[in-house]
Amino acid sequence: MKFRGGHNILLQGRPEGMIKLMPEPEVLYLPLRSRRFSFGELCVEEGQQVNGGDVLARDLDNYSVPLLAPRAGRVRLTEREGHIVLEDVARLAEHAEIDDEDLPHIAQEMGASGIKRYRLLTLGAWQFFYDAYSGSLPDPLGRPQAIIVSTLSLEPFLARGDAQLHNRLLNFTRGLEQLQSLLEYQPIYLVMPDIKSEFANLIRNHIRGYASVKMVSIPLTYPYDDFSILARRLGLKRSEGPVWSVRTEGVLAVDRALTLSKPCLVRIISIGGTGVNYSTHISVMPGYPIQRIRDKYIFEPVSRIINGGILTGERLGPEALGLDTECRGLTVLPELQDREFLGFIRPGWDRSCYAACYLSSLRDKFRERLSTGLHGEGRPCVSCNFCEDVCPAGITPHLIHKYLYRDLIEEAEQARVDLCIECGLCSYVCPSKIDLRSQIIDSKVLIAKEKEEIRKEQLRQEELRKQEEARKQAEENSK
Ligand code: SF4
Ligand code: SF4
Repeated sequence: MKFRGGHNILLQGRPEGMIKLMPEPEVLYLPLRSRRFSFGELCVEEGQQVNGGDVLARDLDNYSVPLLAPRAGRVRLTEREGHIVLEDVARLAEHAEIDDEDLPHIAQEMGASGIKRYRLLTLGAWQFFYDAYSGSLPDPLGRPQAIIVSTLSLEPFLARGDAQLHNRLLNFTRGLEQLQSLLEYQPIYLVMPDIKSEFANLIRNHIRGYASVKMVSIPLTYPYDDFSILARRLGLKRSEGPVWSVRTEGVLAVDRALTLSKPCLVRIISIGGTGVNYSTHISVMPGYPIQRIRDKYIFEPVSRIINGGILTGERLGPEALGLDTECRGLTVLPELQDREFLGFIRPGWDRSCYAACYLSSLRDKFRERLSTGLHGEGRPCVSCNFCEDVCPAGITPHLIHKYLYRDLIEEAEQARVDLCIECGLCSYVCPSKIDLRSQIIDSKVLIAKEKEEIRKEQLRQEELRKQEEARKQAEENSK
């Protein structure tokens, strides 16, 4: 496969492959919002006692995906805004709640595969699936043209597939077999760092005869593990149906839900960055109190916590009390509060940069100790074209930035903002500190809104036209 753009960012604080267990919490704070989900339909009442695996809320806009109780406990709905709080948390036997109401017609329409997909949704495993092109939650009863499974995580500081696979090879291969049983003849592509490695051979031997998986290796350059890039490189056209994609943790969740019939209540997430005392992976459940993680791992008194990786994550504000259901890692950076004294005359021996503008370009490759400091001031675009060089989508971020600056939305659309995969590399390499990624994301939202408004207006006009025709017809009839 041929890729373009991309760039590897060398930073200190990469998580170790170990997985540490966190102590059991007494209280869980389950956010009602995450990146893709908004659990607006509450299914429990104030003070209700629930078991682990019970449905607390649902996102009705996303195929009623459930927010499951990770442990038994008593529900508090009004205690913290935007959260369901579980008090007196206890580790009791998990209870897999399956709502059987819809099963008969699914079984009739789709048979065993439909029932399995429904179980994935109900037991919390479906949340690990993505539509490769849009990143949204795919329709669990839809027909994918292929499934892409990735064992890689190339964005700095995010949970690594190898850590998640540690001692779980059997679960992973069983998960692949279960994935195969959801399909008719569509292929499964397994993306690995090296398809000739011993590990790849182990997987091949395990699944031989049970699942037909095509192994694909890619260069270990960010963001070649992005699903939309992989789908394009594999020749899977958007017009030919959805492409489902899932990472290592998703395959493990499929195994848990379909082989063991157990709800997926625990996640392995990374905790990395230069603000932590030990970069590693931790096994936690959604709702785990962020303060407890902070007390154990974060040594910097003033630090910025990012939900996700350094390039695409979102800053966690003080209102976020617990981990959300989609969290894949926390990145912690020391927050620089003071300006660096005479920062502009520092030679930059310890700073890495896409341009060879610091003295560090004379050094061998090294990992930078990143902080939240900008190391410079924002300024207009200097047309260096670095953003275009690294852009894996093959678009021109600097040109789009100039269009957006002058409110030329149509031109930005013609420059194919829709192809942007939101990897954030353009913002990272820009020497003028322009946040190109946010600008492009905002413009995509604006364009989508405008298109929606046009569509609604067309529908309204059509409705008016029909009503007018009906009125005329009625008049003629009465005459
Ligand atoms: S324009 Fe989009 S795809 Fe290209 S580098 Fe920037 S964020 Fe990534
Ligand atoms: S990297 Fe920044 S300064 Fe360079 S061309 Fe792109 S937007 Fe302009």
